[in-house]
Amino acid sequence: MILKQLYLESVHRLADAGVTEPEIEAALLLGHVLGYSRSQFFLAQEQELFPQQLSFYNTLLARRLLREPLAYIVGEQEFWSLPFKVSPKVLIPRPETEELLEKILVSVRQNGLPPGPVLDLGVGSGAITVVLARELADRQVFGVDISLEALGVARENIGFHQVQPRVFLLNGNWLTAIEHKRRFALVVSNPPYIDGPAMATLQREVAFEPHCALSGGADGLADIRVLAAQIHPVMVAGGMFFMEIGADQQESVLKIFSSFSEYDRLQVHSDLAGLPRIFQARRC
Ligand code: GLN
Repeated sequence: MILKQLYLESVHRLADAGVTEPEIEAALLLGHVLGYSRSQFFLAQEQELFPQQLSFYNTLLARRLLREPLAYIVGEQEFWSLPFKVSPKVLIPRPETEELLEKILVSVRQNGLPPGPVLDLGVGSGAITVVLARELADRQVFGVDISLEALGVARENIGFHQVQPRVFLLNGNWLTAIEHKRRFALVVSNPPYIDGPAMATLQREVAFEPHCALSGGADGLADIRVLAAQIHPVMVAGGMFFMEIGADQQESVLKIFSSFSEYDRLQVHSDLAGLPRIFQARRC
């Protein structure tokens, strides 16, 4: 079968399975099997696939038809225009998290940061850690995750992006892995914040992602409460905290943090879709 025919057939099968961007996904999956870029793929439309390529492709297509995310199938996701290795042990980095990082970097450039290292709580694939280590080249970045498997994926991404000399990964439940004498200038987290009812109705692709990276307990705020209580003792005065939140959590998160006298300048920023998704506070 020639590539063009296989592509068209795949687009139909993916659309029938409920995949929302079947043209893009068919092209990416075929390109992955052939080792082609997007432009190479479109120039090779009359090419015949070798039997091994065809059977490898069919295995991967079958997984996508069951709605496994493409990023897990190809083992990679682009984030901040950089390639990140991903596996089902980590959350797939998302565009909202790029917006979180943009807000952080704008704030750091405009207002500066007190001296001290950076802490990423819940590193997952290492997306936030790697970008902060690259963009804030004068800082050490500490990353914590409860999952050793996630730390393994993060370690690969940190090595691939060559920031390992300034990055330190720790295994633990939120702040338990941090020495109590350490003080951070910037603390960032994309914590699990999905509530119970929403966890029961996840999009099929999202259900493949690690439950512990998504679920924030019955009301979605369990981990956010822990962070509010645990981070202020490890922050320097004037240090900044940034966190991704759910679109309907603005009020609850402001309430949680305002019950601690250790924080001021609480703010929630909207993302590009106009949703209040980025929380910020200062350690006063
Ligand atoms: N920090 C990672 C990310 O932003 C993982 C977050 C998580 O697993 N909740 O993608």
